[in-house]
Amino acid sequence: MRTPPKLSASQRQDALDKAARSRKARAEIKNRVKSGELSFTEVLDLAKSDSVAGKMRVRELIEAVPGVGKIRASAMMERLEISLTRRIQGLGVHQIGALVREFPMTHSAKRRGKLIVLSGPGGVGKSTIADRLRSQNNFYVSVSATTRLPRTNEREGIDYFFLSREEFSKKIANDEFLEWAEFAGAMYGTPRIGVENSLAQGHDVLLEIEIEGAKQVKAHSAEAILVFLQPPSWEHLVARLEARGTDTPERRVERLALAQEEMAASGEFDLVLINDAVENVVLRLVSLTT
Ligand code: 5GP
Repeated sequence: MRTPPKLSASQRQDALDKAARSRKARAEIKNRVKSGELSFTEVLDLAKSDSVAGKMRVRELIEAVPGVGKIRASAMMERLEISLTRRIQGLGVHQIGALVREFPMTHSAKRRGKLIVLSGPGGVGKSTIADRLRSQNNFYVSVSATTRLPRTNEREGIDYFFLSREEFSKKIANDEFLEWAEFAGAMYGTPRIGVENSLAQGHDVLLEIEIEGAKQVKAHSAEAILVFLQPPSWEHLVARLEARGTDTPERRVERLALAQEEMAASGEFDLVLINDAVENVVLRLVSLTT
């Protein structure tokens, strides 16, 4: 047998913390199956893009289905010739087919929602697009958490959840963010639970986030569609940032420098849309969900 690598005390602690977070996330999925909020097949779907669900043992999932229990679960696995230690990500197509047939009542006809991530330089008009998708197109637009201070027109729980650095770090440790990133001296993160519930319930989801966060989402969820919103021209963006009444002059200079860096990242996105007219962008984004 291969000898395990020698770990330092802090590496061991990190590994233990990571395992504890995964256990917690798995327990959460099982509870949602037990309560009937997530169906058996929805978890199989989730496992295609979510590594925590993928690493869950098939037996744990079957046992969590209301009315099954340990004895029926192992009898079923024996009959279907699935090893009791098999993880969901290790199931073959025939085994998946056989399992789905075992749970016809829980087979949901609901489609899974689409996950669209909208990024682009500050000032390009992402929030206007997000507002439109939320109010007129029935998208679930995730409300992020941030450590920056609220601007005068911003409301808690509507524009952001405003947190202290300490509160934010606690949520990172508890694996409560789908992604998070540091941007212009503050931390920003997408709460995981609302996004996952909405997708499982068939709602299309929009994340309006900066570039590093967008890349993290894609790394975990191949299903995510990354859209980069570009201004019609650089001058256009400068004019918009200059016109922002909510920033101090120093902040505006910083934001322009950042925007220049951000513009260079468009090549890493699935799709680049030019924000020439809000209506056009909204139509293109809606067309990605069908
Ligand atoms: P602002 O401070 O102007 O509201 O946002 C600054 C940047 O942070 C924007 O590009 C915005 O899209 C991004 N942002 C907002 N929420 C999140 C989030 O949850 N995660 C990440 N990675 N970026 C976010």
